This record gives sequence, structure tokens and C-alpha cells, in this order.
Amino acid sequence: MPDGKTHNAINAAVLTAVLVGFYLIIKEGMDPSSIYLNNYTIVAFSAAYIFATLFLSPDLDISSKPYRRWGILKILWWPYKEIFKHRGLSHHPIFGPLSIVLNLAVIVAAFFLMAGIDFKSIPSSLLIAGVSGIVLSIEMHIIADNVVSKMKVFF
Ligand SMILES: [Zn+2]
Repeated sequence: MPDGKTHNAINAAVLTAVLVGFYLIIKEGMDPSSIYLNNYTIVAFSAAYIFATLFLSPDLDISSKPYRRWGILKILWWPYKEIFKHRGLSHHPIFGPLSIVLNLAVIVAAFFLMAGIDFKSIPSSLLIAGVSGIVLSIEMHIIADNVVSKMKVFF
């Protein structure tokens, strides 16, 4: 498997490529995508993507760097780590991102409830941009894992 550093490098390269793509879409005024792209959605997307690369890796199924980065809050991911065997469902292209986003949603909902923040006060465009960033970051990890394990067959 690529190690954590390799995953981060791959994800950084992909984010750079995506941002260049956004820039070109905006510059060319390509519809309909360009109407969803503005400074707010792009920042929400990028921030969520970077956060997910560092904190929401499918390797949360083991005591990995992303898992340990949560510090004392890693207890919030302990059930996830215990339920999912390594490179099991968390590395599935659909159930991986779904299970991670759902676990995160439970954590965020609990935090919002405690902080008294109204969930509806967050614009849906930012929510969609953020979730897209998280999902893309997770998919890149899964693809990188798959490509490397397939390459190992040849060497
Ligand atoms: Zn992995």
C-alpha cells in the first residue's frame, strides 16, 4: 500500500489538478458547472478535501496517522475502527465514503446540538461542496490503494 505520505502527495496533486480545472471552467464560463463555482464553494470544497486527506482517510479502520491525528477525539472513530476490518468496507468505493461521511455526520450533528448551531443555517451549496471534497479525497485514497496492489502483481 502507498504509505500516508504517498497518499498525501497523490491527493495534493489531484487537488491541484481539480483547482486548475475549476479555474478553466470559470474562465471559459462553461455552463452549467460554472454557476455552482464561486469563491465560497471552491474554498469549502478545498478545505473539506484537505481535512479529509488528513483526518478522514479510509485507513481510519486501523490505528493509522489519520486516526491518531484526532488526538483525544479519536475515541469518536474507535467504533468505526473496531467494526471495519482493515481494507474491508472502508476501502469499498461506495460504502467507504458513505460510512465515513455518515460517521462524521453523527459527530458534527452532536457538536452542532451541543453548540446550539442550527443545521439549516448552513447553505446547501457549501454543504454539497464540502461533502464532494471529502468524497473525492476518499476515492483518491481507494484508487491509489487499488492501483498499487494491482501493480504488485506484476513485480
Ligand atoms: Zn488504505
